Amino acid sequence: MSHTNLDKKELATKKMVDGFNLILEGLGLDLTSEHLVGTPERAARAWREELCLGLTQPEPKISLFTTNVDEMVVLRHIPIRSLCAHHLLPFIGEATVAYVPGTGKLIGISKLSRIADYWARRPQIQELLTAQIADHVASLVVDKDPAPDQSLGWRKKSRNQGPRGGVGVVIHARHLCMEVRGVGHVGDMVTSSLRGVFLTKPEARAEFLQLIRTEDSRI
Ligand SMILES: [Zn+2]
Repeated sequence: MSHTNLDKKELATKKMVDGFNLILEGLGLDLTSEHLVGTPERAARAWREELCLGLTQPEPKISLFTTNVDEMVVLRHIPIRSLCAHHLLPFIGEATVAYVPGTGKLIGISKLSRIADYWARRPQIQELLTAQIADHVASLVVDKDPAPDQSLGWRKKSRNQGPRGGVGVVIHARHLCMEVRGVGHVGDMVTSSLRGVFLTKPEARAEFLQLIRTEDSRI
């Protein structure tokens, strides 16, 4: 790591430590109490290195494997640990990511979790997080404008064939900003994002929705 990077990291950490100090002072707490000594440093480290890791780490490297299968692949129970951007309180849940390969490539299955984690570990809103995961996976497996199928006659070829491949993401999450403040309502918020054939082909969407319906959430 270069000196400039180190300085930048130190400066960012110092800003956060100062900030947490101000919060504790603002609450009228005694910063010399044995439980609060070192708290600003610990909190800054937890935020920078864990809760908001997605802001400083590079995008995950995704291994792709060649396939000639175009059936749906589904990964369920992907842990989602994020922070609501409006109140900076955690929201915790699970994602289901499904895709149909349209580029002749399969994604290494653990990489779907990596993509979800990368976008979750920062201040977020659940709707946007769902869309960002869907867009990221779609960029790897959806061919938005496939070449016409040469076996078709010119009439069919000239029609827009639509995308090849698709992505569906559903996230269920509990929001602490709703549970520990405001209405105090314990709720399971559900968001979904669809791309490619999940939008254009009713049978692909139906298969995905059927799968979501039968899912037993383990939150
Ligand atoms: Zn919130």
